[in-house]
Amino acid sequence: MRIIGLTGGIGSGKSTVATLFAELGVPIIDTDEIAHTLSHPPSEALKQIALEFGQHFIEQNGSLNRAHMRAHIYANKDAKMRLENIFHPLIKSIVIQRLDIQAAHTPYVLLVVPLLFETNTYSNIIDRSLLVDCSVEQQIERVQARSGLKNTEIAAIIANQLPRKARIQLADDIILNESSLAHLQSSVNSLHERYQDQTCRFT
Ligand code: ATP
Repeated sequence: MRIIGLTGGIGSGKSTVATLFAELGVPIIDTDEIAHTLSHPPSEALKQIALEFGQHFIEQNGSLNRAHMRAHIYANKDAKMRLENIFHPLIKSIVIQRLDIQAAHTPYVLLVVPLLFETNTYSNIIDRSLLVDCSVEQQIERVQARSGLKNTEIAAIIANQLPRKARIQLADDIILNESSLAHLQSSVNSLHERYQDQTCRFT
């Protein structure tokens, strides 16, 4: 089974692309979705957060107090790394469990990792990387339409991610998502043909 790492900057269209692959029957493992699940009880991550940061980071209902944690990370340099040190290994072990379950049933799976190139966590697991790419202007436009964040806030998030050019250089395959959804669908269809062809050597 091939493991395709799907990545791209904020608002580039990763979730949209993942949905199109899912509609073709491809299993999707989404690290963001796993992280979200781990923020709600019962979860090993919450137990570790309570021990590492204190019980006051946990809400009455047992879930993560996100606002409190966000403020803490903003004010404390090492807090982000400490939090990632809790989440990343737990996410990775769930990813590996899910990959094992899929292994015998499908030619390939899509592993969605927004910061695939920024972190090394999955470089030894994936067979190929697939980048969803669009202009920075389009990223800002799409995120703004979806979230109502200010241009400056979106630009700050983009500035914290790898620059577009560097991502393009690192990617094995690229979907340019700068036009219609119909165009996106046809890009997904042709990649799907290649990914499920076991004889394809990707030269
Ligand atoms: P994030 O990094 O924030 O999770 P993402 O990379 O998963 O974002 P999506 O959520 O798939 O991006 O897309 C961002 C927004 O842009 C969504 O509202 C989506 O519907 C829209 N969108 C994506 N691609 C296109 C397209 N080709 N045409 C029109 N709208 C699009």
